Amino acid sequence: MQLSLYSELLEKAQGCWPDWMSVIPPGKDFEGEAYRVTDYAAYFRYVKSRLELGMQNGDSNGTYPEPVPHCDVCRWFRECDAQRRGDDHLSLVAGIRRQQRNQLEEWTTDTMAKLAVLPLPLKEKPDHGSREAIERVREQARVQVQGRTEKKLVHEPLLPAVEGMGLCRLPEPSPADLFLDLEGDPFVGESGLQYLFGFAFKNAGELSYEKRWALNRDEERKGFEWLVDEIISRWKANPRTHVYHFGAYEPGALKRLMGMHATREDEVDRLLRASVLVDLHQVFKQGLRASVEEYSLKKVEPFYGFERRTPLDESRVAMRYVEHRLELGWGDEELPDSVRKVMEGYNREDCLSASGLRDWLEEERRKLVDRGTSVPRLPEKSGDPSEKLQEKLDRAAALTERLCDNIPTDPEARSEAQSGQWLLAQLLSWHRREDKRAWQEGYRLADLDDEELLDERVGLTKLRFVKRIDAGKQVPTDRYLFDPQKNNVRTGKAVYFGDEKTGEVVAIDHINGVVDIKKTKKTVAVHPPTVYMWDSPLRTDAQAGSLYRIGEWAAAKGIDAPGRYRAGRDMLLRKPPRLVGGEKLVPLASERPENTASRIVLALEDSVFAIQGPPGSGKTYTGARMICELVKRGKKIGITALSHKVIRKLLEDVVEAARDKNLAGVRCMHRNDNGEEGDRVAVAKKDNKEAWAALCSGKANVVGGTSWLWSPEPAFEAVDVLFIDEAGQMSLADVLAVSQAAKKLVLLGDPQQLERPLKGSHPDGAEKWAEDNSGGHGISIT
Ligand code: SF4
Repeated sequence: MQLSLYSELLEKAQGCWPDWMSVIPPGKDFEGEAYRVTDYAAYFRYVKSRLELGMQNGDSNGTYPEPVPHCDVCRWFRECDAQRRGDDHLSLVAGIRRQQRNQLEEWTTDTMAKLAVLPLPLKEKPDHGSREAIERVREQARVQVQGRTEKKLVHEPLLPAVEGMGLCRLPEPSPADLFLDLEGDPFVGESGLQYLFGFAFKNAGELSYEKRWALNRDEERKGFEWLVDEIISRWKANPRTHVYHFGAYEPGALKRLMGMHATREDEVDRLLRASVLVDLHQVFKQGLRASVEEYSLKKVEPFYGFERRTPLDESRVAMRYVEHRLELGWGDEELPDSVRKVMEGYNREDCLSASGLRDWLEEERRKLVDRGTSVPRLPEKSGDPSEKLQEKLDRAAALTERLCDNIPTDPEARSEAQSGQWLLAQLLSWHRREDKRAWQEGYRLADLDDEELLDERVGLTKLRFVKRIDAGKQVPTDRYLFDPQKNNVRTGKAVYFGDEKTGEVVAIDHINGVVDIKKTKKTVAVHPPTVYMWDSPLRTDAQAGSLYRIGEWAAAKGIDAPGRYRAGRDMLLRKPPRLVGGEKLVPLASERPENTASRIVLALEDSVFAIQGPPGSGKTYTGARMICELVKRGKKIGITALSHKVIRKLLEDVVEAARDKNLAGVRCMHRNDNGEEGDRVAVAKKDNKEAWAALCSGKANVVGGTSWLWSPEPAFEAVDVLFIDEAGQMSLADVLAVSQAAKKLVLLGDPQQLERPLKGSHPDGAEKWAEDNSGGHGISIT
């Protein structure tokens, strides 16, 4: 809309509409994205006319300044804020949701003052969400109204204290505790930049502050390593050390940085496993109710009398200055001392404020304990990985070190072979990095209280046990009622309470709020008040194992040496296909694409060949015909892709192509636990061995399966050629893992296809999809 408006203004100035409008997104090269003005003009006119109509009608209800995230940076904030305050608008109540406001307005409870005296318990049941949730915001409004009427700060504990929540999240204080704060800009380059790392700690009774600046990627890595090393060495010296921070930003940044720079991963994992990081925002929000409009660090500071010396206005200006320069480049400029000082002051005061907040929260906890309330502390946890995991980590770390030995840290200074070898080293931990995100999400969900789970589509809250509907042979199935809420919980999914698996959803009725959960042996007698759905990561030992074997081989013999795993190694080195008999990649005169592709694949020698084309260009058709030509010559073929659907489609097309060509002896098999038997494609349901045996015996000569079929060691060179369909959707790590199954690889892909989003953060290059690394050597079909 903004670009269309600019285009319209330009039309007024120059007399005609521009053809194109462009936006320059942040990124490495600031490459513009161009849009045809006429593609958006009709929609622009429509929105504009509606706005003009709205303005003419002057309908004040239609233009109420409902708070939105943009308000934080909007120039109209003062006016809108004044109106909301004048109206005593419900949005001033901390933590209230839009749906709750709508419900309250329907009940004519349309101001904070009215909400504060809404009779409890509620007579009416809300259309959405639970009574308890409305009662909670009512209590929040009461405290806020009390605070403003009595012109004083008001707070009260949320009781009973629940183990692992609120004040029970506070560990025993230690003189070695640290108070952490990071400053980052998400718009620098493609992955943002953490530009200031700071922490405070007690030094001879006084708080001291340490910091590191990072104005480029290399300094960011060094700053991150410095910070993690500082934390680890202090934690080792005093195992009761904890690192306090306010909000989810700091742990999120540490997880991102360890993945992106592939450094200090083990250390950060240890800190997370041992719950060394303590989020004071969660402690406050879950433990106390306070007369504040939002539970932010700056808003709660008056409770513990923290006064800032660096004015927030000045800090904001300095922050804008630094972030503009980081996003657009410094040129010859250096960070001015005045700006540096303000930013350091701001960061330092955030750290000191966190320390003040921790002490105050401890004091609140002590008062409760003195009154006889039980507020159990978090139990101490070991950060050590299991013996088996430690062994794997050590093995991978040693191999990474071997592979990276003598490779320059500057990517520009690396030869092609060194770049490929470096990439291989980074891929060794790819699956672990990906899985980590899923585990971290599990830990995050386990930490949420009922109210927070209401905001998550994976949560079912306020569960009420109804009856046991099936005693089962080993485990029963229990029925529960829940308050209907927007969620994605589905049949067949595992649900958890805290960090314990409750069972599996066997039926769910979202309209009437009924869920049946098949329990586990451990939870037979447990009726959880709330559950959340979470998928634990699939085991990827087979893929990681394959990468390790390739890495070992390359470290011993060289990344570019003849021998095992050559096709996969060629892919890392972005080499063109090796062809025998003087064959060329270029199509012959009036040659059809499938004939070109078949000619090339027959001449392919221990390397990788890519075929690219947009949807509908006939890549699968071409692939199927290539497979038939290979089978005709007695070759065994493997097919893989990200999904069984894609694999099955190519298998079916092979059968079709064989029929078209009158080719007998094409025997297709699909390795799929849940695959449907068809008369054209056999299915190996039992296990991988069944599919491998079929290849050995000749029962099948074209076998499809996911990376779990082609990565294990017994699948080494199980086929002559492996076809990877929709290669743009498969990670480079997975394609390299399956590459061991054949001496020759064929990648079928669409360069325009949207990439599958990654879960983890990875070093540059390791986050790639297989097709990105084909080096552009192959053929394109249209
Ligand atoms: S402050 Fe700006 S964004 Fe927020 S309601 Fe007002 S006009 Fe809209």
